[in-house]
Amino acid sequence: TFGDEEGDEEDWSARPPVVTVMGHVDHGKTKLLDALRDANVVAREAGGITQHIGAYQIVTELDGNERPVTFIDTPGHESFTAMRARGAKVTDIVVLVVAADDGVMPQTVEALNHAQAAEVPIVVAVNKVDKEGANPAKIRQQLTEYGLVAEEYGGETMFVDVSAITRQGLDNLLAAILLTADASLDLRANTEQDPQGVVIEGKLDKGRGPVATVLVQRGTLRQGDSIVAGDAYGRVRSLLDEHGNKLKEALPARPVQVVGLTSVPRAGDTFLVVDEDRVARQIADRRQARIRNAQNASMRKRISLEDLDAALKENRQLNLIIKGDNSGTVEALEEALMKIEVDDEISLRVIHRGVGGITKSDIDLALADDVIVLGFNVRAEGQATELANREGVDVRYYTVIYQAIDEIEAALKGMLKPVYEEVQLGTAEVREVFRVPKVGNVAGSLVRSGTIVRNSKARLIRDGAVVADNLSVDSLRRFKDDATEVREGYECGIGLGSYNDIKVDDVIETFELRDKPRD
Ligand code: GDP
Repeated sequence: TFGDEEGDEEDWSARPPVVTVMGHVDHGKTKLLDALRDANVVAREAGGITQHIGAYQIVTELDGNERPVTFIDTPGHESFTAMRARGAKVTDIVVLVVAADDGVMPQTVEALNHAQAAEVPIVVAVNKVDKEGANPAKIRQQLTEYGLVAEEYGGETMFVDVSAITRQGLDNLLAAILLTADASLDLRANTEQDPQGVVIEGKLDKGRGPVATVLVQRGTLRQGDSIVAGDAYGRVRSLLDEHGNKLKEALPARPVQVVGLTSVPRAGDTFLVVDEDRVARQIADRRQARIRNAQNASMRKRISLEDLDAALKENRQLNLIIKGDNSGTVEALEEALMKIEVDDEISLRVIHRGVGGITKSDIDLALADDVIVLGFNVRAEGQATELANREGVDVRYYTVIYQAIDEIEAALKGMLKPVYEEVQLGTAEVREVFRVPKVGNVAGSLVRSGTIVRNSKARLIRDGAVVADNLSVDSLRRFKDDATEVREGYECGIGLGSYNDIKVDDVIETFELRDKPRD
């Protein structure tokens, strides 16, 4: 349910389910969302071409009742998990699309892992049944291996055969969504509470300025409301639905475009309504300051393995993602890990496993759930490494199974000390900032202590506070020449990769991470 169980009973009413469509690329997510959009049984207001605003709501019929259903119109588990990582729970039900002429593919498994990790019920849409070679029974068979057993085989998951092209089965799919919602979810919301919800999408529109599509989760959002969304604020000048119709108000589970914000919020930001514009602005200002501070601290979720002990005690669960170079090793590793015996109140849960390098999507998933990512004979891909470093996700590499077992066992017992320790290399004081075309800002600096080493890790300190962390000395020059290191007392030019917010008098602190011998 959205919101807390508070307020008068009579203010609570049923709300529509919010659905996200996921699945392997080319299995028909986009087509299906388009087909469902046109399945609306209620004639819509004249005019207005349907626009993609990030979400839409249709009305269908079930047992003679008109029932609205909301779809998030950005298919894929990346956005789903990115939002979840930011603490936003938007989706009630996941529709997992699998092409009947193809079968379960890597992203199918990834999507279902993401849905299962979020504990969101899944309805399977077996798509493209119009195609020659379609084998819907095979899909059911394949998915049983992943814990999705079709109702007709005695399981609990609804499978619906559909075609996004011929539109067959769409009504059944909508019915399955509603039946799943009715059977296992108590979807209610209080329409009288202070309005709150989540930003689905934000953009800067040439004519209208910042425009955000928001999903109302509780209360009723009205035109004229003073609103704060993330660190943006403003007065709701107009509320528009997906057909471009102006609305006076939006009830829970209704996606609407909000015009009138002063800046563009990010997907996953929450919004709320306050009494006065002034208050909205104050909250937005405070949030901006908090975001800056959070960036300073930047350590966010790094599970220093000492904290892990505490986290474990709280959660009683250690989540893992296992990626390996072949399915045999992944299975062997998982099996071996599952045999680890610790105090039985702590459990080990593998929330995702797969063959291949560690991807950005794995890191997104890890972020949403506080997870340790294990790479067995595989590495993280570029973007994934960047994200993992930035967000402090614990990624570990192994080539020998027993080493992984030992470490995880130690982690479970809360005994493991950090594997790395930071070793200071040197500090430099920024004297001048140069803008170098194609490179960005370069800090003309004086080395104050130690040695500045190219490619070492770095953080930026301003007025005694860390303003940026997880940086690296990407370029180092003395006069016109590249240098590998520059010692105390000398001047040099330091480039911090794509990080450009460098000011005179900032201090660049450099260090490296060394293996710390374990006792
Ligand atoms: P997405 O990557 O999952 O969003 O997949 P798309 O919706 O873009 O569909 C991929 C391709 O499959 C497109 O060429 C679609 O026209 C086609 N397609 C999607 N659904 C169906 C279907 O039910 N039947 C048939 N025959 N083709 C489909």
